[in-house]
Amino acid sequence: MPRDVDVDKVVRQQLEMEGFLTGFVVKGRRDATSCVSAEAGASASAGQPPQPQRGGLDAAEAARELETLSGEVRQCRLCGLGSSRTHAVPGEGSPRARIMFVGEAPGADEDAQGRPFVGRAGQLLDKIITACGLKREEVFIGNILKCRPPDNREPRPDEIINCLPYLQRQIEIIDPDVIVALGAHAAKTLLNTVKSIGHLRGQFHEYNAGIGRPPVKLMPTFHPAYLLRNYSEENRRYVWEDMKKVIAELGLPIPERGKS
Ligand code: URA
Repeated sequence: MPRDVDVDKVVRQQLEMEGFLTGFVVKGRRDATSCVSAEAGASASAGQPPQPQRGGLDAAEAARELETLSGEVRQCRLCGLGSSRTHAVPGEGSPRARIMFVGEAPGADEDAQGRPFVGRAGQLLDKIITACGLKREEVFIGNILKCRPPDNREPRPDEIINCLPYLQRQIEIIDPDVIVALGAHAAKTLLNTVKSIGHLRGQFHEYNAGIGRPPVKLMPTFHPAYLLRNYSEENRRYVWEDMKKVIAELGLPIPERGKS
């Protein structure tokens, strides 16, 4: 791709077109109560507040669907990364996770093991999860790209466009309460924006989950790899502040700050 192409713009335009065709509206906000199930509608008419329609799968069904999807990811050859990877990295964690962490793309360690966030950045992410009073197996960890870009280069628009439907389906199956977007690529892709991570982080945004589904709260924060490269007290405090908002949103007790 020539240098002067605006990569964000290409991805955004493509996602908007795909959203138009598939119902994954990637622009604007929807009212969470505007799409209610028949059951929820009935409860509203019985005097109860309408409940937004959620994923609707039990844990076993969600686990099966995630496993089927992981199989598809492992077979995927939609872009060139399918031939350069050692292992695809579909993502892992609880099918009923209340929090989904979404990173950029697998690195060398993840490519070698077929598991997300198992290198140095992953160790820091583990510390962040523990500091939140959670266990790794209670959350779900995935990426925008499921295969490692060679030499850890940035994801390309065609790769993001081909790969994003896998993540969209994971979000649909898991139906989390909160998505934590780790770093600029995850935040900008999921929010379909060109705003910087410094501008986006610190407040909840809405991930548009498609027609008939309420938006999912999304908290952008710094990527653990960025944090490792810029390990200042200030940056660590920013991430901790972001995570405290996530914990509060889930109604969980906020632990004392850990040492991560
Ligand atoms: N960085 C990411 O964005 N994802 C991983 O899985 C590992 C490192």
